[in-house]
Amino acid sequence: MLEGASYIDGTWAASGERQEIHNPAEWDEVVGVVGLAGSGEVNAAVSAARRAFGSWHQLGPVARGNLLFQAASRIESSVDELAQLASREMGKPIGETRGEALRAVAILRYYAGEGMRGLGDVIPASNARTLQYTTRVPLGPVAIITPWNFPLAIPMWKMAPALIYGNTVVVKPAEWSSLTAVRMWQLMADLFPPGVANLVLGLGSTVGEALIQHPDIRGISFTGSVAVGSHIADVATRRGVKYQTEMGGKNAVVVSEDADLDRAVNAIISGAMRSAGQKCTATSRVIVFEAAHDALMSRMREQLATIKVGNPLDPDTYLGPVVSEAQYQKVLKYIEIGEQEGRLVAGGSLQPANWGRGFYIQPTLFDQVEPESRIAQEEIFGPVVAAMTVRSLDEAISVVNGIPYGLSASIFTRNLKTALDFVERAEVGLVRVNDETAGVELQAPFGGMKGSSSHSREQGRAAIEFYTDVKTVAICP
Ligand code: NAD
Repeated sequence: MLEGASYIDGTWAASGERQEIHNPAEWDEVVGVVGLAGSGEVNAAVSAARRAFGSWHQLGPVARGNLLFQAASRIESSVDELAQLASREMGKPIGETRGEALRAVAILRYYAGEGMRGLGDVIPASNARTLQYTTRVPLGPVAIITPWNFPLAIPMWKMAPALIYGNTVVVKPAEWSSLTAVRMWQLMADLFPPGVANLVLGLGSTVGEALIQHPDIRGISFTGSVAVGSHIADVATRRGVKYQTEMGGKNAVVVSEDADLDRAVNAIISGAMRSAGQKCTATSRVIVFEAAHDALMSRMREQLATIKVGNPLDPDTYLGPVVSEAQYQKVLKYIEIGEQEGRLVAGGSLQPANWGRGFYIQPTLFDQVEPESRIAQEEIFGPVVAAMTVRSLDEAISVVNGIPYGLSASIFTRNLKTALDFVERAEVGLVRVNDETAGVELQAPFGGMKGSSSHSREQGRAAIEFYTDVKTVAICP
């Protein structure tokens, strides 16, 4: 059984209170035990990050990149082990966790390479002999707070850019995915000087809260729920600390009358059911033109019936359990609400009897849902889709935009004008034509509009905007 601890100032810290982590597919199985940190460990980690900052910044981006390249190779050598652990810890099917581990490797390499890129511009000055240019400086110690649904990729897509641009970090992973984080740190953390890459395990309400309130934290990068993200935004604004919050979504696929229905059905099912719908970019609404409605629904029903629900470690499993009992109860509650608000086409709240020991939910589809109803407005974070019918592109776009979120949306159409109209008018940060709502390549900017995000972008070159400040320099003769 795995034992997980916090990693502070280059050493593994023993902590008092311990918490078991159970396998959501087999609740009796204890995957490991983690020691929960408290505010004392948070103080020690932030102090270490502050002490390490000066020399880490001075080391320079090329040398920092070399360490990230080495970290990538260490993680790569254990991709299968990490994938197994993440699947057991949070229930995502093994094919997906393996893909995620490989993505973590690619992210580390991408940002290692960023260490060799230019950081600023030379700008003409009124006096031709003045050298005027911009450069970028790191923020200092940065708090990184992550959710459980991408336990391998999200910590890396925040930590790698933070480090390459010269910041030091204190990472707090989600309670349900701490063991995966610990294993990644065991593999790579000793590469970095003490204090550069700290990991603190514990509850959001204590460890997370102490971290965001700490006076030496100069930036907060958060991914998680709207409730916690809004609180972090308030705290950071009050303290004058730079922050970014990536939060929820209620992502729509529009299926127009000229869509390739087979492609649309595959994309909807993959977007809605992979990771058991527990992705911020998961498809949770289908907005179908009247003329395509009947054909789409019958194909959806047929395909949903073929989905293999099962243990995440079985390579044939398409849909594993949701992460925890609380998540399971929440999704079942929404399915009960959906049974009042729409017409059940597949799945439903009645669970097969032999699923008793894991938090499995059937792939569920509701039709004839009103755009204002709860299952069409609120983030469920489970394998549940609400379908609505529309008569025109204008109506479809108004339904797409008629929610508080603005993360991802896609349209299936063969008409270029329809596609371009949609791209222009959909109020989302990620817009797709003939592709699913979930998944963005790591070199492209990622983030949302409206209530989904603080409007900054992660990934790719966009990350430099958050993890650095710009300095404008003029050197006169
Ligand atoms: P959550 O908000 O409950 O927790 C996220 C993290 O915040 C955890 O590490 C938690 O311990 C910490 N936290 C909780 N209270 C805190 C506090 N007071 N101060 C500081 N930290 C605190 O979210 P979750 O349940 O782990 O994840 C699911 C949510 O994440 C969904 O809403 C999903 O849409 C969102 N998400 C968004 C993206 C994105 O990029 N937009 C990606 C993945 C997940």
